Amino acid sequence: AAAAHKAALRLAVETLRPDWLLLAGTMAALAATIFFTLLFPLLIGEVFDVVRAHGGLAGEAAGAAAINPFAAAGAAATPTSFTAVMLKLGGCLVLSATGNALVAWCSALLGERFGYRLRGRLMETLLQQDQAFYDASTTGDLVSRLTLDVTVLQTTLADFIGQRGFRSMFEVVGALLMIAVQQPLLALVSCAITPLLSRLLRAVVVRSSAIIYQRQTVAAEALEYAAERLSQVQTVQVFAQQEREAGAFAELSGSGYQLAQRYAFFQGVVEGAGRLAVNVGTVALLGFGGWLVIQGRISVGALLAVNVFNLFISVGLSSVAASLGELGKALGALERVSELVAASDPATQDVAATASSGSAAGTSSSSSGSHSASVGAPGHSSNGNGSSSHVIAAGSSNGSSSSSRGASRVELRDVWFKYPGAMNWAVQGINLTIEPGQTVALVGPSGGGKSTIAALLLGLYTPQRGIVLVDGKPLVPKTDGGSGAAEAGMAAVLQQPMLMSGSVRQQIRYGKPEASHDEVLAAARAAHADEFVSQLPDTYDTEVGERGHALSGGQKQRLAIARALLLQPKVLVLDEVTSALDVASERYISSTLRSMAATKLIIAHRLSTVRQADVIVAVADGRVVEQGTHHQLLALEGGTYRRLVKTAELGAFWAHAPA
Ligand code: ADP
Repeated sequence: AAAAHKAALRLAVETLRPDWLLLAGTMAALAATIFFTLLFPLLIGEVFDVVRAHGGLAGEAAGAAAINPFAAAGAAATPTSFTAVMLKLGGCLVLSATGNALVAWCSALLGERFGYRLRGRLMETLLQQDQAFYDASTTGDLVSRLTLDVTVLQTTLADFIGQRGFRSMFEVVGALLMIAVQQPLLALVSCAITPLLSRLLRAVVVRSSAIIYQRQTVAAEALEYAAERLSQVQTVQVFAQQEREAGAFAELSGSGYQLAQRYAFFQGVVEGAGRLAVNVGTVALLGFGGWLVIQGRISVGALLAVNVFNLFISVGLSSVAASLGELGKALGALERVSELVAASDPATQDVAATASSGSAAGTSSSSSGSHSASVGAPGHSSNGNGSSSHVIAAGSSNGSSSSSRGASRVELRDVWFKYPGAMNWAVQGINLTIEPGQTVALVGPSGGGKSTIAALLLGLYTPQRGIVLVDGKPLVPKTDGGSGAAEAGMAAVLQQPMLMSGSVRQQIRYGKPEASHDEVLAAARAAHADEFVSQLPDTYDTEVGERGHALSGGQKQRLAIARALLLQPKVLVLDEVTSALDVASERYISSTLRSMAATKLIIAHRLSTVRQADVIVAVADGRVVEQGTHHQLLALEGGTYRRLVKTAELGAFWAHAPA
């Protein structure tokens, strides 16, 4: 927990650092403002003594001036000195008001800039997380940290610097010093209440930071719950679960309310105790100070000034208490925020990776290398020894298409991967080489590991053991500081493509925002999307996605394909893309893909798609069990592919298989 505190504070300091000049300026303005504020009580005391003297008690006034060290030297009780004091008061007023305005302005600005920078940094961090991170988090939680928590932080920061925290602390210290200059014994009385209060303050900070952390966490859960149910409101309504869902939500947000109640009660106790301590202090000061006046040791004006200073102290302390309470809240929020940053800290990731690769090595030693029952395809070998001898492109690549930059060789070498928190390996010891321009189809029972292989190839996850090579170079995901799949010339169309809000044009050129209209058009034509797009109200400028024109599953899929084709990838990964397409679109897109030079990895359920692949790789239980052409694998008595083709697993195959 101490390390978490430290990391959180480090994050806050780092975020604030670029604004150090503004911060320094704000602090200087604050110091000046407090100086003028502290002059007030002195001037008030002075006014009092001058007025009293002017009222005829000349002798006493002279004496008072002598014992009031703040009074102007030899202040004579004249109307002129009265005017002078009043002028000084007026000047003080104007200066402190100007200072206050400046401080409030600058500190609000500091808060805004802090929030802006922190949000930006968080979003950047979040977008770079690998899939494992997202598997372990919920969108609601992330969004609430990004918004609610950062907002708490930025308002607290502004308040602490400009309004209550620093200002009150400085005022308290300054007022104490002033009293001490006046009469050290009085300062002692005033001081006596301070340790009492400071103990109280510590309790407030510690407790409220814990409670607020919990409360924000519960609030995030409720937010996540609401977001999820609202996004799937159709399911809720079709199954008539509105009441139950509303009840469950009420319960969730209710537990946040209970925490808030505890916090409120706690604050009440603190507030009451704090005020009591302050009032006791005031009475004591008045008693002792009054006695000093009667003894003729200080003037009435000085007593007045001391009391105003004491008021400063008590008001200041309670506002420090409140502000420390807020600071406790902010610490809770800061920790939630800094956890996200810590999750992306390379240092912590390395530790995790080392730990898991250690266990991977242990498991694999007995079984490594025994899973690739390779049948051997023409012009292709997958012996997994990493030989770089096979460079000849096999299969259908003909290079005739203008829509390609060429093809890459892709290799998975003894790749082991386990999802975070999972018990079993999702893939174990995968050896797979795809020659430039080859099309490889992954088939196998669902849950066998096909999508996982695709995700590993795209660098969405980092394998615990083994390596993914593109053109002989290790694929290092961006999350690990590498150049990532996109830079390696890879593109993908994933299962259930989701569109982001924006026009059709924006969807298609998502991976290359500067793409020209001709490029967009060519990609759309290749993906058989141009036809339906031209019929949309604003054709390529039609808003689609979340709020726009609703598209069918097949239409979305074609836009997703166009998005991938526009990049002219050297490696194309297609995860069940043809599943939502009508037969005509599928034929069209299949022929487009065939004419592309790119290396292709296809996960498909349709026999028509699979049998055209250069190599078919059957995957089951996270292992490559067979590898070869359609005819080779079909000839394997008792083989997995043969069984898949013959049985219900491939029911979907038959629907579109050529007779
Ligand atoms: P396929 O694509 O062949 O249907 P997958 O690669 O999706 O198979 O799944 C392989 C294994 O990994 C399955 O046991 C599945 O339950 C598991 N798995 C897939 N995705 C995740 C995930 N995000 N988190 C944990 N386990 C997963």
